[in-house]
Amino acid sequence: MSDGFVTSSGGWIEVIAGVMFSGKSEELMRRVRRATIARKRVQVFKSHLDDRYAGLYNVSSHDGRDLEAIPVDSASQIAQKLDPMAQVVAVDEVQFLDAGIIALATALAERGRRVILAGIDTDFRGEPFGAMPQLMAVAEAVTKLHAICVLCGNPASRNQRLIDGKAARWDSPTIMVGAAQSYEARCRACHRVVRDDASQVPLL
Ligand code: ADP
Ligand code: ZN
Repeated sequence: MSDGFVTSSGGWIEVIAGVMFSGKSEELMRRVRRATIARKRVQVFKSHLDDRYAGLYNVSSHDGRDLEAIPVDSASQIAQKLDPMAQVVAVDEVQFLDAGIIALATALAERGRRVILAGIDTDFRGEPFGAMPQLMAVAEAVTKLHAICVLCGNPASRNQRLIDGKAARWDSPTIMVGAAQSYEARCRACHRVVRDDASQVPLL
């Protein structure tokens, strides 16, 4: 599908969504590599906020493979740095970008570009992250990937935030850069968020 989806203008949006460690970067790299083999002109961007492993100028998957990427921290920076000849535009860590990415991705698809967006679909609370829900709605194709729950081994659909080894509080900020925190992939049943009883969502 993702190598040959056809629309009248030739453009479309595909979203790769899922938790951390679910293989989004691997899948984005796979698609970019194949587009390159097909001799498409490809441009890869990624959010500044993610500087894990090799540094800012690569998309690094957790298996250590790299791809050159242009660092950005807003949708307008992508527009500024866009190669007008690029046929394929890929963006990793799209959950950190502002809502402008929705209009930009739409405009690119309408101008015949293949747009590949990879991002975390839910934040540490298990709630929709940034522009991901809208992007998943307007995309022609959505791939939802899962990691493996580190506690029970079932498919993981949640990002567990740990601060000093303990589950983070519900009211801690969605994006915490540089704090003493870590993340684990967990399933819904093993996912924990500490919140006051008053803020519990009633079942019915
Ligand atoms: P993402 O971009 O979704 O964070 P990556 O493509 O960077 O994911 O990394 C996926 C790789 O992470 C897997 O192929 C595997 O080698 C590794 N990995 C580490 N922890 C886990 C986990 N809990 N579940 C699945 N894969 C994991
Ligand atoms: Zn589990």
